[in-house]
Amino acid sequence: MTGAQTQTKSWTGNEIRETFLRFFESKGHRRVRSSSLVPHGDPTLLFTNAGMNQFKDVFLGLEKRDYNRATTAQKCVRAGGKHNDLENVGFTKRHHTFFEMLGNFSFGDYFKKEAIAYAWELVTSPEWFGIDKSKLYATVFGGAEVSPGNKLGVDEEARGFWLEQDVPADRVFAIPGLKENFWAMGDTGPCGPCSEIFYDMGPAASEEGHADCKFPCDCGRYVEIWNLVFMQYNRVMEMSVPGDAVNLRRYAEKLEPLPKPCVDTGMGLERTAAVLQGVLSNYDTDLFVPLMKRAAELCGIGAENFKEEEKYEEEGSGAASLRVIADHVRATTFLITDGVLPSNEGRGYVLRKIMRRAISHGGLVGATKPFLYEMVRTVRNLMGDAYPELRDPAAARVPDIVMAEEKRFANTLDRGANELQTVLTRVALERANVLLKELESEGLNNAFDKFADLGTDGLIEWVGQSRGRERAERLTHDWRDAFEKPIPGDRVFPLYDTYGLPRDFIEDFARDRSHTVDWSSFESAMEEQRTRARASWKGGAKEAANPAYTKIAETFKTEADFYYGTSTKDCRIEAIIYLGGANRADAKGRPVNELKAGESGEVVLDRTVIYAESGGQMADTGVFYDPSESQVVAEVTGAYYPVAGLIAHKVVAKETLRVGDRVAVAADAARRDLIMRNHTGTHLVHAALRNILGTHVKQAGSLNSPERLRFDFSHFAHVDPEELRDIEQQVNDEIRFNTQIETNVSSLEDALASGALAFFGDKYPEHNVRVVTIPDSRAPRGFYSKELCGGTHVHRVGDIGVLKIVSEQSVAAGVRRIEAVTGVGALEHYQQRAQMLSQVASKLNVGEDAVLATVEKLAETAKQLEKQMGEQRRKGALGQLEELAGRVQMVKGVKVIAAEVQNVDREGLRQLVDSLRQKLGSGVVALGAPNEGPPPRVDLIAGVTKDLTAKVHAGKLIQALAQKVGGSGGGRPDLAEAGGKDTLALKSALSSIPSLLEGWL
Ligand SMILES: [Zn+2]
Ligand SMILES: [Zn+2]
Repeated sequence: MTGAQTQTKSWTGNEIRETFLRFFESKGHRRVRSSSLVPHGDPTLLFTNAGMNQFKDVFLGLEKRDYNRATTAQKCVRAGGKHNDLENVGFTKRHHTFFEMLGNFSFGDYFKKEAIAYAWELVTSPEWFGIDKSKLYATVFGGAEVSPGNKLGVDEEARGFWLEQDVPADRVFAIPGLKENFWAMGDTGPCGPCSEIFYDMGPAASEEGHADCKFPCDCGRYVEIWNLVFMQYNRVMEMSVPGDAVNLRRYAEKLEPLPKPCVDTGMGLERTAAVLQGVLSNYDTDLFVPLMKRAAELCGIGAENFKEEEKYEEEGSGAASLRVIADHVRATTFLITDGVLPSNEGRGYVLRKIMRRAISHGGLVGATKPFLYEMVRTVRNLMGDAYPELRDPAAARVPDIVMAEEKRFANTLDRGANELQTVLTRVALERANVLLKELESEGLNNAFDKFADLGTDGLIEWVGQSRGRERAERLTHDWRDAFEKPIPGDRVFPLYDTYGLPRDFIEDFARDRSHTVDWSSFESAMEEQRTRARASWKGGAKEAANPAYTKIAETFKTEADFYYGTSTKDCRIEAIIYLGGANRADAKGRPVNELKAGESGEVVLDRTVIYAESGGQMADTGVFYDPSESQVVAEVTGAYYPVAGLIAHKVVAKETLRVGDRVAVAADAARRDLIMRNHTGTHLVHAALRNILGTHVKQAGSLNSPERLRFDFSHFAHVDPEELRDIEQQVNDEIRFNTQIETNVSSLEDALASGALAFFGDKYPEHNVRVVTIPDSRAPRGFYSKELCGGTHVHRVGDIGVLKIVSEQSVAAGVRRIEAVTGVGALEHYQQRAQMLSQVASKLNVGEDAVLATVEKLAETAKQLEKQMGEQRRKGALGQLEELAGRVQMVKGVKVIAAEVQNVDREGLRQLVDSLRQKLGSGVVALGAPNEGPPPRVDLIAGVTKDLTAKVHAGKLIQALAQKVGGSGGGRPDLAEAGGKDTLALKSALSSIPSLLEGWL
């Protein structure tokens, strides 16, 4: 190494990620693993999209951890949001669907001073990233009105700390306004100023060709690499005093300093890699290049031609597709690994769109067979060290799932192309119809017939003869328009939306058929769909918590006594929310001091034995008694968690309830027993499914009600009857083994290490997770089932009695649902089935053992009879042959048979036409058969002998006839078929044939 050279280390993406985490570990931070891409407990969020998501409750003070400094590399997905339309990804330097956010977090520990010092040290110190200081800029919050009447000034504090780091004063910029440098969790809650570090990529990075622009120009030259958020304030709604009839909306917003301010930072790994690897585009880093090369290889471009391919970019093709694939396969691999499956709704819909976009781009650069599933392995090799879940045995199925989607999409394109053709034709015909109606309204009464008879050219000629040249020319022009005017985009949007046909495909397909598409109405249809999707997403989620509960939860948690029994005494009423009753409509949804007899509301107790709905287990019902337990004071219809840790009982008051009163609480114990049997049954079914179908089976939702249990799980095929029988047998074997269920509380780490299953979408506290174990001394690990679960369970497995699966079905692509009954429910199920069998037997007048054989015989007989009837009908039809052959009429020297026949199906009609054609040797045959239905229907078939097809086209003839009977049809020149609705018009349609033919012969 010569002295003149400055040695700059070459950083791989993996090294950058690891160095970041190691740096913060050396500063006393706990390294916390990335949370799932499927956020739990935050229904407002489609996918995890920032490092702070998993710490939201910690920042809100609702959850405590045993550390107050943390650092993470968080996997994130943003797709289809306001700022990241899928269509952009691949065509810019820095848009991604999947990306990694590096972050450090302080939970009421250090604040601005340390956060800024850490960031600057990591970024610039030669021992760490060692980025050239002369390329860096810092920003601070420059002041804005952050809530009504609350104006904050420049964050001089932060500026001071940057200067302390020897950042030159002219490199620290105060950016005013709320958009850039102010962060808020929502309308209420933590908020505060931000500070950012920017890197100057140089003029070559400017997307607007700026040669010498100054910071903070947003042309692309200056790239934000790190955002430090200082959670300094709490925005709260000031509550009015109970009893005051103030509307919720008039609660005032207030800004309070947080007693323990927090730090949340985010450094984008992809852009930092671009900086440290000295490239302009994130896609030129080692995070993406290997993926693009592999894509080039698989799609037939060849990895060796990859560089050249990049040059095509200037011509606007090629490399962009490779970038799309590289980005999308990362999102695809991680989302499926986290349990999302391609489907038509919610998260699965977004995943499907991402996958299909990648697959079509593969097609654009030449892929002719599935390739994306192969790329999953490349992602796994690149990122498996940082994200071990990619190498989990359960993730082994990801390539299969991707391949299945690739095949399904190929079918979709086939089917979609057919549908698209139909739409194009239909739109053109609708427009032609309008023109024909116009002609009729001008007194040209036979316009439809003329078109059917003569085709487009004939029609125009006829119009010219009847109305003059000018009219004919206008018609020519309008007619061309009808077929060439752009197809309304909202007509083809459903193909994009439901068949998943890509826009490019639709455009090419239409162009090949000399159609264009009006994309503006396509866009508005898409916007409408987005609004609907957004609404349905919110609709599926819980409503935002009543602010009253958020307030109560700040100081108080309900003690959950339902694990220990179903009745307890001396519970204190902590709060009452009024819901309805006599005449206090103004108080609805608001805290009140008392609830009178007959009124309904929600009651918070200091502790309770009523199980609150969660983890798929339905809530208990029950009653509140007065302290002496002699009188019911309220009926409890359910309970839920409005915010974490707080239980709200839904009640109807029987006596006056007041805040501060003491009550005894009793849950309906018999009902709870039924629910518990089903809940423990769910755990058994889950374990059996994994034993028999494989460990890829993941819980996708469950419901445990008194009547039955329902278990949804990911699995790609249907579960066949033998497998179901095995599952049922294994579960019942376990029930008979009758071990005692164990419940422990441990740390999440220990629980997972011991083999406990966690529901993939769930967010668990780090400590005090409940682990429910069904021990089994026969199993290698000493248990049959072990799950993280907050529900209530039977004492011994044998308490379930028996478990019977009653149904297995698909609920979404790749998601199956099993329903089962237990105990008394199972007995009832058997009894009902047995009763049904005995009823069938007595109807058949045989013994129960003979039912199956008897039904088989009956079905066979029915089939025979049907066949005979069909044959008879056809014979009857052929019986009419001679009579019909005698009804030949001559039109311009050609033999023609046009007749109505009775009691003949289509097949019979076809045979008749064929036979008559043969009999005539040369001629035209058209037969129609009415069918009274319901619904009433007309079948029409026309046949023309080969020697006449040049003059008489059977297809055209049948079209003309079809129109008269309100139907449609078509076919070859020698044979054509049609169907219609108007049975009354059949006679006149048939009698119009000679005059029709006269025009042609
Ligand atoms: Zn610029
Ligand atoms: Zn459970």
